[in-house]
Amino acid sequence: KNDEYLDSQARRESNARSYPRRIPIAINEAFGIYVKDVEGKTYIDCLAGAGTLALGHNHPVVIEAIKKLLEEKRPLHTLDITTPIKEEFVEELFGSLPADFSRNARIQFCGPSGSDAVEAALKLVKTATGRRSIMTYQGGYHGMTHGSLSLMGNLGPKKEVANLMPDVHFLPYPYRYRCPFGIGGEEGHRIGSAYIERLLDDPESGIVQPAGMIMEIVQGEGGVIPAPDEWMREIRRMTEEKSIPLIIDEVQTGLGRTGKMYAFEHAGITPDVLVLSKAIGGSLPLAVVVYREELDKWAPGAHAGTFRGNQMAMATGTATIKFIKENRLAEMAELNGERLVSQLQQIQKQTNSIKDIRGRGLMIGVEIVNTEKPADHLGTYPAYPELASRIQQECFKRGLILELGGRHGSVVRFLPPLIVTSQQIDTISDIFYEAIK
Ligand code: PMP
Repeated sequence: KNDEYLDSQARRESNARSYPRRIPIAINEAFGIYVKDVEGKTYIDCLAGAGTLALGHNHPVVIEAIKKLLEEKRPLHTLDITTPIKEEFVEELFGSLPADFSRNARIQFCGPSGSDAVEAALKLVKTATGRRSIMTYQGGYHGMTHGSLSLMGNLGPKKEVANLMPDVHFLPYPYRYRCPFGIGGEEGHRIGSAYIERLLDDPESGIVQPAGMIMEIVQGEGGVIPAPDEWMREIRRMTEEKSIPLIIDEVQTGLGRTGKMYAFEHAGITPDVLVLSKAIGGSLPLAVVVYREELDKWAPGAHAGTFRGNQMAMATGTATIKFIKENRLAEMAELNGERLVSQLQQIQKQTNSIKDIRGRGLMIGVEIVNTEKPADHLGTYPAYPELASRIQQECFKRGLILELGGRHGSVVRFLPPLIVTSQQIDTISDIFYEAIK
C-alpha cells in the first residue's frame, strides 16, 4: 500500500522533492517519537519534521491547546490584529529569552516558514543600516526563497536560478573536520573575526561594510557543525565593534534542541536579530524575528503578509514553550545527547567509516568517510555519501528514520524529539549499530 501512495506522489508531485525519495513510506499515524505507515509498520522518527517536533508527534499538551481554541470559539485567523492568544504567545516566547535581550526587543510575525523570517531579517537590517551587502557562512542553510537561497553556499539548488540577491559574502565556518579555519587555542578562535576585520579595514579587499551578518550557531543542513563558543564570542565582539547587526538563525536550534533554550546562550552572547520558526509553532507553521528595538526603522506597512496571524500555531506554540520550560527539556536534551554521543563513540570503534561525531544536545551528526582512499594533507578523508546512504537505508529497514546532511550528503543526522527517553536513545543507537554492522 505504501507503493500506491508513492506512485501517486511520483506522478503528481514536483520533481523537486528530495528526502521523501529516501524515506519511501506514506505516514498514517503518529505519536511521540513514532510514526506508523499505511501498512501498519512503526518507525522511530529521528527527523521529526527537521527538528520541528520538539514534543514529538501529537503531544497531549499540543492537542489540548487545539481543542481548547476550537471549544472556546476563538478566531483561527486575524491577520496582524492582536488577540489574547497572541499576547500569551509573545509573553511566553519573551519569557524564554535571556532578559538582557528580551527587555528591549521587538517581535515581527512572519510566516509561515523559516525562510519568510529570514527574508524579514534581511530587509530589517538593510533598512536599519542603509547598507546593502550581507555576510554569511559557507555551508549555511537559511531557506529556499530568493533572498534566503542567496545565502546558501551550496551551489546545487542555486545554479539554475538567475539573479539571486547580489552582494553576499561567504566566510569560512569553523568546520573542524573539513575546514579547520583558525580553530584551536585562544589565538585560533580569533582568526575568524580577525579575518573579517582585515577585510573591512583593507581598502582594496573589495568588501564594504555589510548591512548584517547572518549565521547558524550549529549548522544543521550543512552537516551538524557547532561553532565553538570562544570563536562565537569573538565574532560577536567584532560585529559589535564594527556595528554589523548579527542575525542568528535559530530556526533549527531554537527552543532547547542544543541543550540550552537558545544556542547563542552556550557562548553567553546575544544576537541583534533572532530568527525563529520550526519548534516555536508546536507542530504548526509559525515564524518570527525578534530584534533589538533600535533596529526598528521600519515604517508602518514596510513588512506585511497574510498568514502571520495563525492563532492555532500561536496556541500550540505557547503550550510547547511552557512544556519545554516546565519539564526542563533543554537539560534533558543535553543529557540524552551526551548519552547518544557516547554510544556512537563506542560504535565508532567498530568501524573505519566514522571519522567525526559532533553536535550539541539532540542535534547530532556522524560524518561517514572513505578510509580506503588517501587522506589529504590535513588527515581528512574523502566524504562517502554512498555509504552514508546505505547506512540510512539499513536503519530505515530496521524502523529508524534518519536524514542525511552535509556538504556531500555524507553526514547522518540525529534529530529526535526532545521528549525522547534514555531507553529510546539506547534503542536508536542499537538500531544504528545493527545497520553499521
Ligand atoms: N534556517 C535554518 C537554520 C533551517 O534549518 C531552515 C530549514 N531547515 C530554514 C532556515 C528554512 O526554514 P523553512 O524550510 O521553514 O523555510
